[in-house]
Amino acid sequence: MLRIGLTGGIGSGKSTVTGILEELGALVIDADALAREVVAADTEGLAAVVERFGPGVMAADGSLDRPALASAVFGDEQARRDLEAITHPRIAARTAQIMTEAGPDRIIVHDVPLLVEKRMGGNYHLVVVVDAHHATRLERLVQQRGMPEADARARMDHQASDDQRRAAADVVISNEGSLDEVRDATRRLWDDRIVPFDANLRAGRVTRSAETPVLVDYDEEWPATAARLAERIGAALGERAPAIEHVGSTAVPGMPGKDVIDLQVGVPRLADADDPEFVGALAAIGFPRIDDYRMDHPTDDLPDPMLWIKRFHGSCDPGRVVHLHVRELESAGWQYALLFRDWLRAEPEAAAEYVDVKASVSAEHGASSEYAQAKAPWFSEIWPRMQSFAQRTGWQD
Ligand code: ADP
Repeated sequence: MLRIGLTGGIGSGKSTVTGILEELGALVIDADALAREVVAADTEGLAAVVERFGPGVMAADGSLDRPALASAVFGDEQARRDLEAITHPRIAARTAQIMTEAGPDRIIVHDVPLLVEKRMGGNYHLVVVVDAHHATRLERLVQQRGMPEADARARMDHQASDDQRRAAADVVISNEGSLDEVRDATRRLWDDRIVPFDANLRAGRVTRSAETPVLVDYDEEWPATAARLAERIGAALGERAPAIEHVGSTAVPGMPGKDVIDLQVGVPRLADADDPEFVGALAAIGFPRIDDYRMDHPTDDLPDPMLWIKRFHGSCDPGRVVHLHVRELESAGWQYALLFRDWLRAEPEAAAEYVDVKASVSAEHGASSEYAQAKAPWFSEIWPRMQSFAQRTGWQD
């Protein structure tokens, strides 16, 4: 079951996009609607609210008196927490129930206005943000929804900023243009990314990079992308993965590289990565294991191949190639990946040299496997330089 988190600032067109996704076949779960449902008239949720806040929060017709509750909670942190302690578990239980009833074949779109504010991005396979400029949103709220301008502004000011929302997004749907344009963009997202992502997830199939390595300029988005993926993996693995690090070329600011996010997941013992629960948890969030055994290239001083064994997972997302290296914490391979990254970050000449090596090797070698082989001599040559950098700087991972 593919789970998509969808959000956007008020007036961005979030409900519009949600409606289009529903027409395309998604099962939409509306977080705001569930928040109302769990305290509707005659629910035990409402009874719990009345018990905590008194009969004054119930209207004469037996429904929740929202303004009365709002004023009871306003400015009172403890009251707000008490209210959330009543509503949140009930909303979560209803959400889980709807997902279970939907069955494994449905694509879920969870419409959560405060997804970014509540830092919920780690719960989804993909976060989609509907984006429109502040001025556009204000105009739509006032002109199309008839909201008083002061109200619209006040509500916008209480939400996350556009930048915060974009940083949380795997996909941004821009809704500056016409309704037809946003419809087309949503349909393309559905056809090109969501549907194949779902198919890959169910088949345990990963997205691989092009057979011919393509070097691209450094992308300022890479660190935020890596952070989002790491958050997702951390949420799924918890204590099983005490450390998750962004490594590889995309972790070196300014350096061109292949558009592949390398993440290193540290496990206390490599055997922990073979636990079916570990493998299953990663597969469920879209990172199935591939090639059961993989090895990093040993250094001259540590030639024992057993020291360099790792596990390897990829990503089902057709829009993002990820290489997930699961290594034992503090192992030779773990330390090498971190030292290499830190050395390239610290020494721009080294990074420039690496770019030259990659460019010449990728020009000569079509296939990615040959490309990796052809880079090997340079890796042997740099090892003493990396070690001297580590000694000189007192490097520790
Ligand atoms: P949100 O759910 O993000 O608050 P809505 O989807 O309700 O926003 O959109 C706000 C208003 O703007 C609605 O009246 C909607 O019909 C309208 N709207 C949304 N997208 C566009 C668009 N591309 N062009 C014109 N109006 C739009």
